[in-house]
Amino acid sequence: MKQPALPANERERLSSLHRYRILDTPNEIAFDRITRLASRLLDTPVSLLTLLDKDRQWFKSRVGLEHEGGSREASFCAHAINQHNVMVINDAIVDERFRDNPWVVKDPRIRFYAGAPLRTTEGHALGTLCVIDQKPRHDFSDVQRRNLQDLADLAMTQIEMRQSASHIDPTTGVYSRRKFVEVLNREAEQARHDGRQRLVAAVDIALSNRFNEIVRVMGYAYAEDFIQESLRRIEDVLGEGHDLYRIGLLRFGFVISDYAGPFTRTALDRLAEALCEPIRDPQGISLRPMATIGLADLMADYDNPAEHVLRAATLAADSALEAKRPWAFYTPDDDEIRRRRFSMMADLPIALESDDQLYLQYQPQIDLSTGTSDRVEVLLRWRHPTLGEISPAELIEAIEHTGLMSDLTDWVLDRALSQAAAWHRAGIVKGVAVNISATDLADPGLRDRIAAHLRTHGLDGSVLEVEFTESAVIQGIDTVASTLESVRELGVSMAIDDFGTGYCNMMYLQRIPADTIKIDRSFIRDLSPDSRQYRIIEAIVSLAATLGLAVVAEGVENRAVLDLLSQMACDRAQGFHIGAPMHAHQIASETA
Ligand code: C2E
Ligand code: CA
Ligand code: CA
Repeated sequence: MKQPALPANERERLSSLHRYRILDTPNEIAFDRITRLASRLLDTPVSLLTLLDKDRQWFKSRVGLEHEGGSREASFCAHAINQHNVMVINDAIVDERFRDNPWVVKDPRIRFYAGAPLRTTEGHALGTLCVIDQKPRHDFSDVQRRNLQDLADLAMTQIEMRQSASHIDPTTGVYSRRKFVEVLNREAEQARHDGRQRLVAAVDIALSNRFNEIVRVMGYAYAEDFIQESLRRIEDVLGEGHDLYRIGLLRFGFVISDYAGPFTRTALDRLAEALCEPIRDPQGISLRPMATIGLADLMADYDNPAEHVLRAATLAADSALEAKRPWAFYTPDDDEIRRRRFSMMADLPIALESDDQLYLQYQPQIDLSTGTSDRVEVLLRWRHPTLGEISPAELIEAIEHTGLMSDLTDWVLDRALSQAAAWHRAGIVKGVAVNISATDLADPGLRDRIAAHLRTHGLDGSVLEVEFTESAVIQGIDTVASTLESVRELGVSMAIDDFGTGYCNMMYLQRIPADTIKIDRSFIRDLSPDSRQYRIIEAIVSLAATLGLAVVAEGVENRAVLDLLSQMACDRAQGFHIGAPMHAHQIASETA
């Protein structure tokens, strides 16, 4: 018996077949009609609608045969699916591929066979519509072949319609969002009567921006595999009894009607954990998904409970991601934060154009050996017309990784350098330290942007220092390091901000081109002799000296701390005790 060859795209063919979720389903009249028609029209005792699984064939519909399926290796259809059109075997006994096939030799069942592939729009043959006779036939005409193929196409259309009618998501084979909305509205109605709590879970399986990157690099089939694998993990943890719904590109949903019963917090932890396990692709590249779960109560007393609960659950999943937690319950705060963030993003372009919303403050740094100040840190302020004063930290978090970030940095650079130029003209020597974000560091054009600002204000690069955090550098250390090197060539100096709070990886530190480290204020605030903090700072100061870096202590709030720092070899200090952030004219008068 000659083994059938595997189709070239067998893996994709199988996953396509499984997505239809048709294997091992009960009889359906629509398919039985087609096999009956085939047997009558082509005058054969047997007609089968076969589907070829990995190792078996399974009959969705059959006429004239008791078996529900059989092995793949003995299957005629496994040969037929490799053919472009109808495969006809006039007499199996004289065909060397089938001569010793069990279906042929045992109680001769198959002598004549004709099978037409069931082909999907992507070209995968899922199985066949075939007709079989116990006696050989040599009269199967071209018209009959065409009839068989037409019926097979009809069966395929039926398979596709069956899928969309049952609201099944074509990529994953789980239910669609539309179906979820129906189910949730029904559940809400029931909740109104039985008063039982129902939770809705939204599972986010990865960051979308990351996902787009993956699709770009690896292709869409790869991305689909990733979705399938995540789905398999969700199904594994949930087990029987939970229907899954695909509610977004990378988002699945399900209902928990037994929270605190069998479904507990531990189950949620387990689910998130399983989803974050690295996924290894066939090429051995491993990808670490970032999955979070958002939960919200299904409340009956809304107009459209389904839409409401879905929105709430997905907001909660976002919040969990931000808080770096595996899962989170929805709270009304999520809405408030989102609204604020949205206003900030929407209003910032206006603020960048108007003169009365954004402004800069300057905080002096002093040189501990001389007690004088020749540098200030530039700090952004936003007086929003309705939201009031917005802290720069909150603003940056909202717009980081959007196109607005570099516009804002450009705004700050322009104003800060304009101020530095004004001081210069007035004979005041003041360097300015400007904070730049991860988005700026990822921009290979950063050097040109800074060079242009310096030119505009007729300044030398040495007037400027840029401050950035370790974590901003670490996302892509190689390209960032070379961007920073090119900025440095302009004479601009570099400071690592918030030192001690990030990765603190010495290997990295060595690779970041920097002139200064700014020790985070959390280490400085309660500094006292003999404290752990004190020893840490001593260690940092001596490490910095070894690497040729200057040290600035941030957040100096009192005299005692300032004195302690002066005793160490710390170079500079900044903080409320030395001077709070202030307006430019206050800096000038302070210096004068
Ligand atoms: P940062 O770079 O660490 O800035 C120092 C922060 O510490 C400032 O907060 C400053 O007001 C505060 N501070 C200074 N001295 C003391 C002190 O003695 N005690 C205490 N408790 N705090 C002190 P601010 O102005 O709210 O800025 C927060 C963060 O926002 C900054 O942290 C920086 O990361 C970011 N930021 C500010 N302006 C900009 C900007 O123009 N661009 C970018 N990308 N980020 C900025
Ligand atoms: Ca800073
Ligand atoms: Ca800082």
